[in-house]
Amino acid sequence: MKHFDVVVIGAGPAGCASAICCARRGLRVALIERQRFPRFRPGESLHPGIEPLLQQLGVGNLLHAQATLRFEGQWVHWNGPPRFNAFGADANGSWRGFQVSRAQLDGALLQQAASAGVQVQQPCRARKLLTHGHRVIGVETDRDCLYASYLIDASGAAGWLGRQLQLTEQFASPALVARYGYLRGCVEPYASHPHLHATPDGWTWLAQVEAQLLHWTHLSFEGDSLHASALSARRLPETLRALPQEGPTRGADVTWRHSAAVAGEGYFLVGDAASRLDPASSHGVLKALMSAMQAAQAVHDGLLHPPLQNLAQAQYQRWLGAWFEHDVAHLRRFYRQHPCPPRWLSPD
Ligand SMILES: Cc1cc2nc3c(=O)[nH]c(=O)nc-3n(C[C@H](O)[C@H](O)[C@H](O)COP(=O)(O)OP(=O)(O)OC[C@H]3O[C@@H](n4cnc5c(N)ncnc54)[C@H](O)[C@@H]3O)c2cc1C
Repeated sequence: MKHFDVVVIGAGPAGCASAICCARRGLRVALIERQRFPRFRPGESLHPGIEPLLQQLGVGNLLHAQATLRFEGQWVHWNGPPRFNAFGADANGSWRGFQVSRAQLDGALLQQAASAGVQVQQPCRARKLLTHGHRVIGVETDRDCLYASYLIDASGAAGWLGRQLQLTEQFASPALVARYGYLRGCVEPYASHPHLHATPDGWTWLAQVEAQLLHWTHLSFEGDSLHASALSARRLPETLRALPQEGPTRGADVTWRHSAAVAGEGYFLVGDAASRLDPASSHGVLKALMSAMQAAQAVHDGLLHPPLQNLAQAQYQRWLGAWFEHDVAHLRRFYRQHPCPPRWLSPD
């Protein structure tokens, strides 16, 4: 039996960022991850807003060392002629996103967490929630019982704590499944910028994530059948069909959802464990880092000033809820402009 100020479940970007920020504030932190690294995760195209966050977390150099592919925005083939959506610019020039291997990003963040004094347990799986009355007090893992003043759930799409606590989720779309995979090679015009193409049933996103590796994701608005999944790779633009596929075609649940209680007595949910949208929202990793850093601040404030715990939780809840609502409104507006908008979109 071990006692910590904070136990974090999951060592993706959200888990590592929250662990690093808590440890830097002098808290005793344990981080458990069920998989051995390197492990596969999609999400190589990073929004430029991520740069200052990774610098704060101490892994900013990784971007410049690893991300040889940079992009100033994306081409959108949606309604009318293709248009280029630039990220923006300031006095220093255009803002540029990064193509980074998730194995390298997640590995660097985990190493940084260990250097910050976080006790990392891997592979180690959260098995059972420990509570006292209504308060979360720790987790039983496949190795040990870990007790904590706060549990931070960063278990991604597994949503481990939400399931344990049976938290209600707010759904903003019907069930959506993204199909995705990789092609070996490099073909213009995809080599320099990602492209988002409207298709008769949804969209396809294409991004050159390494010099000879192209990522594709396809989302069908009207559900996912085995038939649709088999067709996903064949929906690729003509010029790409000759490229050999690298690895399997995978699927991910990308239903728009947000937990109704992202903070409560003794816990915070961060990253995909708190809320998720489909990848057209294009900043899953950025949101994972920002929510983690906010939650770490709230945990610290709550431990330092116990009477402020409820306030810190309520502020986090409001902040993340407003972000989700904002993103949903944005995606809905965007999908309404699709040549064949999803039937499930309510009128404005
Ligand atoms: C097809 C697709 C394409 C995407 N493309 C992009 C993109 O280009 N850019 C972008 O920014 N985002 C993208 N995303 C979103 C991005 O992948 C996620 O938003 C991001 O990975 C969320 O990070 P996280 O730390 O919350 O969760 P994750 O990265 O999923 O990490 C969760 C971790 O928790 C661990 N875990 C789960 N359960 C347990 C347990 N019981 N015990 C211990 N450990 C556990 C898992 O093993 C995992 O390592 C994409 C998503 C999909 C599906």
